[in-house]
Order: sequence, then structure tokens, then C-alpha cells
Amino acid sequence: MSDNLMDTYAPLPVSFERGEGVWLWDTQGNRYLDALSGVAVCNLGHAHPAVSKAIRTQAEKLLHTSNLYRIPLQQQLASELTSAAGMEKAFFCNSGAEANEAAIKLARLYGHQRGVKTPAIIVTTGSFHGRTMATLSATGNRKIQAGFEPLVRGFVRVEYNDLDAVRSIARNDPNVVAILVEPVQGEGGVRIPDENYLESLREICSQQEWLLMLDEVQTGMGRTGRMFAYQHYQLTPDVVTLAKGLGNGVPIGACLARGAAANVFQPGNHATTFGGNPLVCSAALAVVRTLQQQKLPLQAAALAARMLEKLRDALAETPGVKEIRGKGMMFGIELDRPCSELVAAALEAGLLINVTASNVIRLLPPLILSECEADQIVDGVCNLIREFSAREIAAA
Ligand SMILES: *Cc1c(COP(=O)(O)O)cnc(C)c1O
Repeated sequence: MSDNLMDTYAPLPVSFERGEGVWLWDTQGNRYLDALSGVAVCNLGHAHPAVSKAIRTQAEKLLHTSNLYRIPLQQQLASELTSAAGMEKAFFCNSGAEANEAAIKLARLYGHQRGVKTPAIIVTTGSFHGRTMATLSATGNRKIQAGFEPLVRGFVRVEYNDLDAVRSIARNDPNVVAILVEPVQGEGGVRIPDENYLESLREICSQQEWLLMLDEVQTGMGRTGRMFAYQHYQLTPDVVTLAKGLGNGVPIGACLARGAAANVFQPGNHATTFGGNPLVCSAALAVVRTLQQQKLPLQAAALAARMLEKLRDALAETPGVKEIRGKGMMFGIELDRPCSELVAAALEAGLLINVTASNVIRLLPPLILSECEADQIVDGVCNLIREFSAREIAAA
């Protein structure tokens, strides 16, 4: 219970006061190794000098003007971000859910402009797209929807990683105008689709003139070992949504588009008061430039590959460990039973981790971690899982 705060969270009994790189210090002065990055937000670690400096400098000049005036920093960010993504245009907002709202509205407008009166968007099971009404309706998790009915209509759901289901809809449903999908499902349990999945979706979308809309809110900004997860493959989406790692902690989201999708919105169609203000854009510019100049995604991918191998070796014989998945600095260790108690156990041991989809230990360390810090995370996590296994599984 947290006095005057609505009970939307049940926070762990710890407060952090200071951070540096991969480390956080609580109000008692205890140090923690952060293997979660505030859920894939602080990809450059805490108090990154380039980001701190950008915020400090901009804060002394100008925070906000509104989008009624030109914002050069926003134009600069749009230019560098779309160029890194192979996209053409950007709309800036304040969160992942808002980025997806923009994509959903864009797809509907695209449909109406093409004469589809009740445009529908294909979404998948196990997905997570946010907590606003449209994005929770798109989300493939009943728990997130329960109690908030009536849901927003206009979504058609297929099994994640099932191409035949999409092909069947292509033959039968003339209302579909887009697919919204995560390149790797984050909240859904670090689910990595088959190697050909996204490229095949691209093909289907091109044939059908559907928009391929990738939710890269969690996978973007270097998280999977490329700037954007789709850059592991030979494809360009029509729409990409970003947030989490884009500002390294300041709230900024983006909806990027190219081709026909880039020119759907016209003045009056969509807007936001705060979106893309000078402060957040200066921070995001520092993030984009640091990731690129230091080739951090590729560097992190190499280190992440070694971490994945070590996790697999160390846990190969541990009862209860079902599967260990990874794409860059995005790891999921699936156990054969619920294991959310591991989050508190890890905290006790000075390590920040997460459990998602009730039985998947999720690690999202900052991309800037050293080899030694990577080893500490791997060792810490393996110890916790071995103890859990000995207590809960082998003993049972
Ligand atoms: C976190 C997340 C969102 C929602 O982002 P918010 O900033 O919390 O609104 C949407 N999609 C994916 C894939 C996410 O991981």
C-alpha cells in the first residue's frame, strides 16, 4: 500500500537514489547490478554522460514551445532516426502506447483513404502493445483486457509465428489493411519467431498492399544487436514504433513511416502537446548518436552471444529449465513453473531482473556493460535458478 498513489503497481521495497552505468544505489547505500535497464529503457546505462549533458544543456535554454512552432531539434532527430531506420518520416509522442496509437490511427486512415470502410489490423497472441484502450485491445493477453470491455474493434488475432493463419486471412478478409507485430515478443516471454517469419510477413503485406507495422518499442534502439530488430533480416517495414530506449529515461516515443504510409497523416489528423519537445529530442539525439558512433548494438551483440552460451552451458543440467532464448541483450529463461518469487530473491542478492509471462526470467541489461559485469549477471542469475530448482523442483 502506498498512501496516496493509486494501486496500479505493487513495487518492491526498495528505492534507488543514484545510478552509474550498470549500477544503482539504494537509499541505504547498497549497490545493485541492473540487468533490466528500467525495462529496456536505459540502454546506455544510468547517468550516461552524453545524455546527461544534452539534457543539462537544453534545460538551461528551452524545454517546450508546442508543435505549433517549428522545433529544429525535432527535425534533426527525425532526420537521423529515419536515416538509421531506412524510413522517411517520424511522428514524436511520449510513450510506447502512444506510438502504437499513432500507428493504429495511421493504418485506419490509410484504409479509409483506400475505400475500406471498416479497416482491420492483424495482431497476434501473446503480444503487448500498451495500456490505452486501442493498444490493450490490440494486446494478446486477456489479463490486460479484463474489466475494460468493451474493447476497441477492428483487430483480427492470429497465433504468433503462424504464417498460414495470415495467408488465410489474406484470402478471406477484405477489411484488413495492416499487421502490427513485435519482431521479438518482450512481455510475452522473449518469444523469437522463426527466421523467415518477418520476411514472409513483408511479402504478404506487399502482395496485399497491407502495412507491415513493427512494434519495436522494446526491441528497438540496439536492444537485439542491431539498431532495430528488423535489421537482422532483409526487409523494411512500412511503420515502426519506438519508445523505451529512445530517450534513455526521458519519455519519448516515435512512429516512423515510409512509402505510402509516410504521407497518410495531414494537418489535423493527429497531434500531441508534449510530443517531441526540445528537451526530449535533445536527449534522444544524444542516444541515437552514441549508439551509432560507438557501434554499441554490434558490440553488445557479441557480448550477448557469449552470455547466452554461458547461460546455456551453466543451466544445461538444471531441472526445471525448459528453454533459454536470446536475441542480443534480450534474454528469456523459461522455467517449467511460475517463478516470480525470483525477482525478490535477486533483489536480496543485489541483482535486478524481471519475470514475465509468469515463468520466463527476462534479462535486459544495458548495452554498455563490461565483460566482467556480464559475467556477474550470468553467475548471479544461474545461482538463483539453481537454488530455486533445488528447492522447488528437485526436492518435490
Ligand atoms: C513497453 C511496451 C509498450 C508500451 O510502452 P509504454 O511506454 O509503457 O506505453 C508497447 N509495446 C511494446 C512491445 C512494449 O514492450
